[in-house]
Amino acid sequence: MNKGVLLVVSGPSGVGKGTVIKRLMEQQDNLFYSVSVTTRKPREGEIDGVHYHFISRSEFQDLIAHDGLLEHAEYCGNYYGTPRKEVEQMLQSGKNVLLEIEPCGAAQVIRKCPDAISIFIMPPSMEELRCRLTGRGTEDSETIEKRLHTADLEMKQSKLYRYQVINDTIESAKAQIVDIINQNTSWRK
Ligand code: 5GP
Repeated sequence: MNKGVLLVVSGPSGVGKGTVIKRLMEQQDNLFYSVSVTTRKPREGEIDGVHYHFISRSEFQDLIAHDGLLEHAEYCGNYYGTPRKEVEQMLQSGKNVLLEIEPCGAAQVIRKCPDAISIFIMPPSMEELRCRLTGRGTEDSETIEKRLHTADLEMKQSKLYRYQVINDTIESAKAQIVDIINQNTSWRK
């Protein structure tokens, strides 16, 4: 059986990648979201096992020690990682798998899985990014500044990805990603 394709999507906090991804997943029957582990505290409305597996730092260290993560990274003081077994099993059974991860982790995946489709979602401008991040109201001002600083660094890594997509409107960003997927002959419908 042919394996599924790995789709790696990154973009700075507040760029709207969550919404673009949600629309994409509604449309793609054979695309499955890899639920990451994180040591970050859940935000209001986030469900353990759906948005993330929320775990402690020692559980995270254990996963690293037992080669349980395909990639991992620290982001703004918290740890994030992709459970390796789940992803491998999904790919093996012919499912396409989406990883929504930051650039340090993406670089690890791109190195290990050269066939992965990698996409960096860019904001129309940094000013617009600040507005979106402030407007969603999920972070305090200190966290917003931290995330904007990180966004600057992340933008510099956008060339590491095979594709760059500007999220001007959700619909056009989604349409560009669908085009990219459709160009990939290994994509499993
Ligand atoms: P948030 O705290 O806003 O949910 O996520 C912060 C950042 O961590 C985002 O850029 C998100 O894409 C990234 N992220 C989420 N899960 C993972 C993961 O498993 N690995 C890595 N490297 N980054 C992740």
